[in-house]
Amino acid sequence: ALTGKSAIVTGSTSGIGLAIARAFASAGANVVINGFGAPADIEKERLGIETDFKVKAAYSPADMSKPAEIAEMVVLGHKAFGSVDILVNNAGIQFVSTIEEFPPEKWEAIIAINLSSAFYSIRAAVPAMKKRGWGRIINTASAHSLVASPFKSAYVSAKHGIAGLTKTVALELATHKITCNCISPGYVWTPLVERQIPETMKARNLTKEQVIKDVLLEAQPTKEFVTSGQVAAMALFLCSDHAAQITGANYTIDGGWTAE
Ligand code: NAD
Repeated sequence: ALTGKSAIVTGSTSGIGLAIARAFASAGANVVINGFGAPADIEKERLGIETDFKVKAAYSPADMSKPAEIAEMVVLGHKAFGSVDILVNNAGIQFVSTIEEFPPEKWEAIIAINLSSAFYSIRAAVPAMKKRGWGRIINTASAHSLVASPFKSAYVSAKHGIAGLTKTVALELATHKITCNCISPGYVWTPLVERQIPETMKARNLTKEQVIKDVLLEAQPTKEFVTSGQVAAMALFLCSDHAAQITGANYTIDGGWTAE
């Protein structure tokens, strides 16, 4: 159980992050949720966590492309709950395009949100974790932290980067009872995946049905999508005492994708 512990989950107004925040809350942790969306929807999610699980939930509006706001989010976590014991770097965006047409501003945004944000949040959260002598850092990487797909130059670069950051941080904190791991899902049916379907239709000249069957599920030998609940269960396990010796690992949950 995570009773008495507090977690920040970035990008948790939707998809995988929301599932992770709710899983932590179900285990008794107070959580800081973060991400974009309509204020009323975010407040509904925040309140839902509090009422469903009898924990406290706070919201940080920090934009993961802005280092100063990321630092403020970690301060908010400490102010709201007294500690940030668990940090999940999960916020992420995608863009699909041939490299020659890949907009430089999309490259910069993906590197900032999917990679650099984790550097900024980890550096802000680690000093207090070291003092308390306990911590869990989990980065949502991707199957694309291990293998590539065409037309995703920025995303694949950022995800390979986060796999390297994970290992480095794990080694630095190895004797502090702070673990750092990443989880690498294959395709999870979330708004992020739905949004890339039109771009992929354009880049590969395919119909929507062809993208789902021949591009997305083609990658996964099980021919099924991963669920955000399955990713959240792994995140919860990594926070447990059973996982105290798991650090620097990259756990795939990809229906066999990276076994091929
Ligand atoms: P999603 O679009 O449902 O959720 C993304 C979250 O990040 C949202 O809460 C959004 O508001 C937030 N976000 C986006 N930009 C932000 C910013 N600048 N600052 C703060 N928050 C921001 O997507 P998801 O599929 O749940 O993705 C979550 C993570 O999982 C991402 O890192 C993604 O790369 C990774 N991932 C997803 C899949 C998949 O198939 N869906 C597979 C592997 C990895």
